[in-house]
Amino acid sequence: MKSDCHHAEFLLLLLFFLSLFPLFAARYAAAGELRCDLAVSFDPAAHFLNGTIRCSMAAGESLALQTAGLDLGSVVVNGAKQEVGIGEDGLLALPATDGSQAVDIAFSKKIEPGSSASSMIDSQGIVLLDLWYPLPLQPARISLIAGIPADFSAVSEADEIIYQQSGETRKVSFSFAQPRSFIHFIAGPYQVREERMAGGTIVATYFFPEDQEFAQVYGAKTMEYLARYEKLIGPYPYKRYSVVENRLPTGFAMPTFTLLGQSVVRLPFITETSLGHEVLHSWFGNAVGVDHELGNWCEGLTTYLADQAYAADKGEEVDFRKGQLIKYQSHVGPDNTMTAADFKDAGDHGIASQATRAVGYNKVSMLFHMLRKKVGDEIFYAALRDFYQQHKFRNASWDDVQQSFSKAADLDLSTFFDQWLLRPDVPALTVQKLRIEIKDGAPELTFDLVQQNTPPYEFTLPVQVKNGKEMVRQDVAVTQAKTPVSFSLTSMPPTMEIDPDYDLMRKLVPDEVPPVWSRFQGGAEKMAVLADGSEEKFAPLRPMLEEMDCAIVTESELNEHDLGVKNLLFLGTDSKASLGLFARPAFPATGFTLEVRENPLAPGLVAVIIQAETREQVAAVARKLGHYGKYGYLHFEDGKNTEKRVPESDYGIGYILDQPPRGAAVEKSLEFDDVMDRIADSRAVYVGETHVNQADHLLQFRVLQAIHQRYPEVAVGMEMFNRSSQAALDAYVKGDIDERQFLKDAQYFKNWGYDYRYYRDILQYARQHRLPVIALNLDKDIVSDTFREGGIAGLAPEIKETLPVERDLSMPGYRQRLVQVFQSHSGPHFNANDQKMANFVQSQALWDETMAETIAGYLSSHAQAKMIVIAGSGHVVKENAIPPRVARRIPVKQTVVVNVQQGDLPPDEADYVFFSNQVNLPPSPMLGLMLADKKDGPTIDGFAPNSGAKAAGMKEGDVVLAVEGQEVRTVDDIKISLLYKEHGSKLKVKARRPVFLLPDAVLDFNVQL
Ligand SMILES: [Zn+2]
Repeated sequence: MKSDCHHAEFLLLLLFFLSLFPLFAARYAAAGELRCDLAVSFDPAAHFLNGTIRCSMAAGESLALQTAGLDLGSVVVNGAKQEVGIGEDGLLALPATDGSQAVDIAFSKKIEPGSSASSMIDSQGIVLLDLWYPLPLQPARISLIAGIPADFSAVSEADEIIYQQSGETRKVSFSFAQPRSFIHFIAGPYQVREERMAGGTIVATYFFPEDQEFAQVYGAKTMEYLARYEKLIGPYPYKRYSVVENRLPTGFAMPTFTLLGQSVVRLPFITETSLGHEVLHSWFGNAVGVDHELGNWCEGLTTYLADQAYAADKGEEVDFRKGQLIKYQSHVGPDNTMTAADFKDAGDHGIASQATRAVGYNKVSMLFHMLRKKVGDEIFYAALRDFYQQHKFRNASWDDVQQSFSKAADLDLSTFFDQWLLRPDVPALTVQKLRIEIKDGAPELTFDLVQQNTPPYEFTLPVQVKNGKEMVRQDVAVTQAKTPVSFSLTSMPPTMEIDPDYDLMRKLVPDEVPPVWSRFQGGAEKMAVLADGSEEKFAPLRPMLEEMDCAIVTESELNEHDLGVKNLLFLGTDSKASLGLFARPAFPATGFTLEVRENPLAPGLVAVIIQAETREQVAAVARKLGHYGKYGYLHFEDGKNTEKRVPESDYGIGYILDQPPRGAAVEKSLEFDDVMDRIADSRAVYVGETHVNQADHLLQFRVLQAIHQRYPEVAVGMEMFNRSSQAALDAYVKGDIDERQFLKDAQYFKNWGYDYRYYRDILQYARQHRLPVIALNLDKDIVSDTFREGGIAGLAPEIKETLPVERDLSMPGYRQRLVQVFQSHSGPHFNANDQKMANFVQSQALWDETMAETIAGYLSSHAQAKMIVIAGSGHVVKENAIPPRVARRIPVKQTVVVNVQQGDLPPDEADYVFFSNQVNLPPSPMLGLMLADKKDGPTIDGFAPNSGAKAAGMKEGDVVLAVEGQEVRTVDDIKISLLYKEHGSKLKVKARRPVFLLPDAVLDFNVQL
């Protein structure tokens, strides 16, 4: 299914940026109106402001002002100076009187440079976002006159701005028709550009001289957005809109202007996303205000009409919504979930507020998407226009939203709003009783759609099925816990996808969730493993890791068992733990690289691998990294992102229904010798086998012979022998020992056990021509211990020492292939997420890595040699078994050859396939005995049916002393002797039989084999 790789805009928007409403955003007055006239002047060099405020109250009205952090001068009421008490909380209270009152207060404030993150007064500029004048606790209609340096321009909430020059200072007065809880003030050495739109709205840009290049495009894009939303929602609610640059790193949307940090303005994509989001807040958030106590509908709505709409403009809305669900699932879990109705504020951009944002922005944006799907576009936008008209310059609640939509749709939407606003869970879906039946020649697909939520949600669920070459789609109305669904089709459907376009707020299934950075950020139980000697290099990441509650351990502190139960982050790729899971990833040598993979030891958890060139490269990204949660691969050079990717994942909950066999176009089949000519320049030729298929062994023998005829220096690598048997192999090939001795020394029957005749021709050929035979296999016990004892962590330290250090468990397709193998061995109770499966992957990878290490070692120490590798077909898979693991260690040409007799041939398994007739070994000669090695020698334990030995008179308890006149001590000795006999011939056996109270009898038998 198609891949998901898009730009960072949306995420950056949420993270750096905007969405942060100022603390004192629009909160409209319910009744009674206060009027205040504010006048201020500045001494930028002294970081000082001086001001007066006059508030006028009607008879019977009281006034309370917040003055914390201000230096108060005189307080004059109705022309008479008064002593007024100020509480510890900074509240100045004036009681009501029978007549009207006017109060004049003088105040001043000093803001030391660097003392505030959001306010400043100096010759660079003035930014006042925190309390900077005595603030009435009720909304007031405020006029402002400010004296600023002659080269400054200024902005505040205003419909009109008028300048007057008087000597060294400039007087600027602001008037604004709407009552405000708070006004902001910004001034600086701006170059101001103004342009009037057709409808009369003035669009202004306040940019610093050095950023003039951006002013034109910001102005033009702002007008575009204003026009877009006027058309969609209704007339722009104010008379001006300004884009104002800020030296401080802010992103705010105030009525009539937006305040953007200089570093934000310079980012290339802001005009494409965040700017529009902020402009839209003029309608929703500013004109229609949010009463935060009653819930914040506005961020999710703005995200839907801005960010998701811009993605839709580019044809990327499906990825956008999928990204929202991934983000939600990464950050919101049972411990921190909340309802959408409980979302009040965006909070900061830290990791802790990501869960809150995933609800308030992403889940609520999905709510509006589902609402639009439910009522249709026309009604949806009509309802929005109604909502805006009804609540302009007032606060609105979720109830108000619901009312406008219910009215426009003429529908009772209470179930819809209740379930999406008041429930902290999201629908989790599964399919049961999935089957295809062919009725009257036409396939019918049926299944039950099951919700795991109680009570069940009500929603519409798109389901699509591929029918021949076209997609058949059904919108299933779901109201119950279990919904039966059926499709009548005309051809066998290969696949089915549920909700492929992400139209439903729901839980994603594992195949839909790629390994991305947000899964680590939001994951529980996090552990970072620091490679030895890397403390200094990665120190700049410590604050980020600590903020996300990630334990940091060095290699020596690491408890290996933790690797299988935590989300992992490897700081440096050289630690043993990292090498043992991912070998050495092919990352660029320079800059900073981060890659997220599934934790191969713990299904559902992730492992992040970080590699960096220097401490400086780490420091350059340390503060940015948090903003890239949606990606799975990131590379930075000097802090600049140069590559970012989202790994592939399924679209929709996918089911594979029917998989027809694979075919191949045979343009020209090749003679065996032609194939051999083509592959003769490979240094490693793999010939896979099913162990008991003689046709495979015959092919192995032919390939060995053919390559050796073309090239003299050939070795044979064999899975069938453990590395500890190498001495026996060497001695046999050199002619130092005979076959009988070799089989004993190599412990062939104990270690491998398959009929030796399968391999006899190959080994005899090697001996004949003195070709080295290399034992490839790890001791069998280590593989099975790894499987049984919970992975490598359970092995004894001296065993671990002998294992290859670099092991790659996450090679693409490897786990999936092993899952199929494991499934076929473990029957109906198979669970791919079982710990056993993780152990199985680890033991198989250990096996493949050991063989690869042995092959690569031989080829590097014998620079002219070739090797014919003889191993089970699962070990020679070209894509992800031994060959790529050899390639990682030594760059040599390799070829994989397999024999096909039956079954499916997946792509990328081999370079050449042969089709051979079935070949059988002649029947093997058999005694028809069960034998066991006991104290006195090989002893009869029982008989097979039609046993020749029984017919010859042998009895249970007989101890075999010799066969064909040769003394035997073990069962293996007897097996070896049988190798030299034919089926149907006779074998002379001498045995000892214990006789009660008498000396043992020694008897001779002639057994028909
Ligand atoms: Zn916002």
